[in-house]
Amino acid sequence: MALDGARGARDEESREKKKKKKRRKKEEEEEGEEEEEGAEAGGSPSAATMGDGDAGGRGLAGARPRGTERPSAVHGRLVLAFAVCIVALLAVTALAVLLSLRFDGCGPGAPGGAPGLPARGGNASLPGPARRDPQAGGEASTPGAPAARPPSDAERERERERERGPEREPEREHPWTHLRLPGHLKPLHYNLMLTAFMDNFTFSGEVNVEIACTNRTRYVVLHASRVAVDKVQLAEDRAAGAVPVAGFFLYPQTQVLVVVLNRSLDAHRNYNLKVVYSALIENELLGFFRSSYVLHGERRFLGVTQFSPTHARKAFPCFDEPIYKATFKISIKHQATYLSLSNMPVETSVFEEDGWVTDHFSQTPLMSTYYLAWAICNFTYRETTTKSGVAVRLYARPDAIRRGSGDYALHITKRLIEFYEDYFKVPYSLPKLDLLAVPKHPYAAMENWGLSIFVEQRILLDPSVSSISYLLDVTMVIVHEICHQWFGDLVTPVWWEDVWLKEGFAHYFEFVGTDYLYPGWNMEKQRFLTDVLHEVMLLDGLASSHPVSQEVLQATDIDRVFDWIAYKKGAALIRMLANFMGHSVFQRGLQDYLTIHKYGNAARNDLWNTLSEALKRNGKFVNIQEVMDQWTLQMGYPVITILGNLTAENRIIITQQHFIYDISAKTKALQLQNNSYLWQIPLTIVVGNRSHVSSEAIIWVSNKSEHHRITLDKGSWLLGNINQTGYFRVNYDLRNWRLLIDQLIRNHQVLSVSNRAGLIDDAFSLARAGYLPQHIPLEIIRYLSEEKDFLPWHAASRALYPLDKLLDRMEKYNVFNEYILKQVATTYIKLGWPKNNFNGSLVQASYQHEELRREVIMLACSFGNKHCHQQASTLISDWISSNRNRIPLNVRDIVYCTGVSLLDEDVWEFIWMKFHSTTAVSEKKILLEALTCSDDRNLLNRLLNLSLNSEVVLDQDAIDVIIHVARNPHGRDLAWKFFRDKWKILNTRYGEALFMNSKLISGVTEFLNTEGELKELKNFMKTYDGVAAASFLRAVETVEANVRWKALYQDELFQWLGKALRH
Ligand SMILES: [Zn+2]
Repeated sequence: MALDGARGARDEESREKKKKKKRRKKEEEEEGEEEEEGAEAGGSPSAATMGDGDAGGRGLAGARPRGTERPSAVHGRLVLAFAVCIVALLAVTALAVLLSLRFDGCGPGAPGGAPGLPARGGNASLPGPARRDPQAGGEASTPGAPAARPPSDAERERERERERGPEREPEREHPWTHLRLPGHLKPLHYNLMLTAFMDNFTFSGEVNVEIACTNRTRYVVLHASRVAVDKVQLAEDRAAGAVPVAGFFLYPQTQVLVVVLNRSLDAHRNYNLKVVYSALIENELLGFFRSSYVLHGERRFLGVTQFSPTHARKAFPCFDEPIYKATFKISIKHQATYLSLSNMPVETSVFEEDGWVTDHFSQTPLMSTYYLAWAICNFTYRETTTKSGVAVRLYARPDAIRRGSGDYALHITKRLIEFYEDYFKVPYSLPKLDLLAVPKHPYAAMENWGLSIFVEQRILLDPSVSSISYLLDVTMVIVHEICHQWFGDLVTPVWWEDVWLKEGFAHYFEFVGTDYLYPGWNMEKQRFLTDVLHEVMLLDGLASSHPVSQEVLQATDIDRVFDWIAYKKGAALIRMLANFMGHSVFQRGLQDYLTIHKYGNAARNDLWNTLSEALKRNGKFVNIQEVMDQWTLQMGYPVITILGNLTAENRIIITQQHFIYDISAKTKALQLQNNSYLWQIPLTIVVGNRSHVSSEAIIWVSNKSEHHRITLDKGSWLLGNINQTGYFRVNYDLRNWRLLIDQLIRNHQVLSVSNRAGLIDDAFSLARAGYLPQHIPLEIIRYLSEEKDFLPWHAASRALYPLDKLLDRMEKYNVFNEYILKQVATTYIKLGWPKNNFNGSLVQASYQHEELRREVIMLACSFGNKHCHQQASTLISDWISSNRNRIPLNVRDIVYCTGVSLLDEDVWEFIWMKFHSTTAVSEKKILLEALTCSDDRNLLNRLLNLSLNSEVVLDQDAIDVIIHVARNPHGRDLAWKFFRDKWKILNTRYGEALFMNSKLISGVTEFLNTEGELKELKNFMKTYDGVAAASFLRAVETVEANVRWKALYQDELFQWLGKALRH
């Protein structure tokens, strides 16, 4: 699954305006010029999440009309049905309370109790409909209503007291109350028959699950959520005899369906469970949901699924944990005006006279529920075939297919399947792979095996309006999902605590796979640093971070594990591993791992063992598990400090300590105080002087402090973590920092591009945490006027960004601004503005150069370079007057944002109009983001209010609107207030979608930096205690660190800047 902003939120994001009106006035007075300050460039989109809010009801609905009623009428009926359900539930509850006396009276130890389960009376069981229908198969209940209800907490408590005695653990008696399924039963095969009613957005289903019983049990517990169960039957497989069902009920707390039997199922026997049910195709983001698009003025609907991590249960009752791999045979009945898709190809289609058709799909191989998928739509497609015969199709809206917007994705997908088949030496497992571009999806994409689903913005590409950044975003999301067809789909993590095993690999391969498509871009060696390593080290340097492998003890933990730590730290650790193992040994290890575990599950130790074996075959003996456990089971990362020893020549002292941005947070967090974190660190090191660099040596650092011998001439410097392949920071004594700065200024090319970028990021981060004087990083970036490579500029730009946000509302901000402009000016003039747009071959050749030029223009415009502002204004004015957009693609976002911030309300209205009229998804996104760049607070407020209207702004884009307004110094307080005022709505809309809430919370709060704002944040959290707790804890730590940094270091920084500018 690709989350939004996969290349790092900070990377392409808008840089909103900086300067205050105060300053503007001053300049106007002084220079008498027109206003031309402060704009910043808007970046390319980083979000790909969406949602359609909470319009659809969530109740259990028994109604299953199959007609052409209008959805509103049907919804009315569903609401009615829901009300009926509630009444039924109340009635059953009342009945159960009455019956509970009898229920309680059943003594323990009755025959038939399964081991480890309550030894309840053989036939007493639960109250309710089961009594009414004791016949074979145990059909029960009125359709649409739960057949019985679970005992309440109070009842369970009473039961425990009266029957079992206080020493018995009540939870064990109720296998349905646990996070994990009990494990007595294992699904082998599912036959799933669905009928989808797209006219009223309901569906009905019948699932037949072949189950192996591994331990005697009297309960069948499997997942089901928000479905109305009509009928449950159980039969013994061989004897074909029915097993009487005493009753069944849904237990919403753990989202399970519990079938209570009159007798126990026997171990080592197979059974067949049949469940007939119905549910809504909801207007939301998860499970089997609907969305829509407009074609020729007419709204068309489609139904798609998003099951990962725990939403298959909303579409059919199933054993919804990754370990329960089974085969699936799916059939979908729908109106013949639609087509249906699923993981496997259609085997046969049966047409009926009434205009309906049933598609029967081929049986899948063994797989988990979370990457099962289906879709019902009116899309068209284009197709291609790989060398090995895999049919690849791209499905999208007919107008997008006609325009060829899917052709790029289709083309690279074919090449990528070929790449992975060759790299992994394991063929793609299914006969086909469909890519589906949908208008609404909670994530950038989801890797469903054979039917991967992408949000349009991450797969459709119109070459005439797309920038290189957009092309790169699209490319990397596709590389990611195709990698998952192996890492995730073919070999699946055992449990969610190791989700980083699949996500870390897919994220790492985004860079390796893109290098295959675009040789020479050096993604894995270079871009990985700024987009992954630097980004995640920022997060993982908080005391509120967590280990990459974290225990999943409760349902909400499952959502928590899908975060940047899993994706980016996972990828960074894998890259470190590949580097110290050597890439070819690493590759062979992966080939073994996939071959051994294909169609199965694997845990991290399976990977470590396979990789250790691969090393052993190469004559190297490293216990990879021992090394990697320290990196995966401990949170955070170390900072290595290398000190020259003044008393003994050629001796250095190397120390390691846990790097935390805010040292006071460390003293507050108990688990950090009591733990002395240590890592086994593969420290690579070189010694250099003005003309020469030694060859690389590796030192494994495993103690807190170590002495090492190194030959070091006078005037030679040391550099650690060569090319930043390791997941740690390196600090030096000031003498060494001076030598390194001197080297960069005299001849920076002695150091590699990655080392230059690494030094910049380390220096800024070390200074921010107080390990280094504030001026050291600012001195380092002085050499940039000579820098011709993109990566160091990119690293500097990203490191300056949070610093800028800390300072942008301060009186003395101008000093900082002026200093940065001074560093940028020479390169800005040298590079100039792009003239032409690109075609495909130009993109390949000029990526580095164009990205560098874009970065420098972004810095220049955002820090207020006058020429940059004039250029942006001219380009926008030309567009408005000629109605022809001649703005070069690669800088459009910068120009739009700068234009909106500098020019008047008419420009804002013009961009607003263009946002509505454009059909290209990439263009739509940057137009919307440009609107957040205004410094007119009325316009910003208007935009914020419009952002929650799903008709105007897609749900996933609304989050970006709010975050971008928060990044604008003129809008920061507006967004923060809007967020607090609308929190209930926002949390309802995004709370359940992984990642969206946390993105919103961090986006709105990360640049708050006053005592007042910190207080507001803490007060706000008190009101909403417990909701999104982890995200809010991170937010508080970040804001506290911001406040603390300002108190300790801002004077030091401004003093130095003042002096530096005078010289
Ligand atoms: Zn993924």
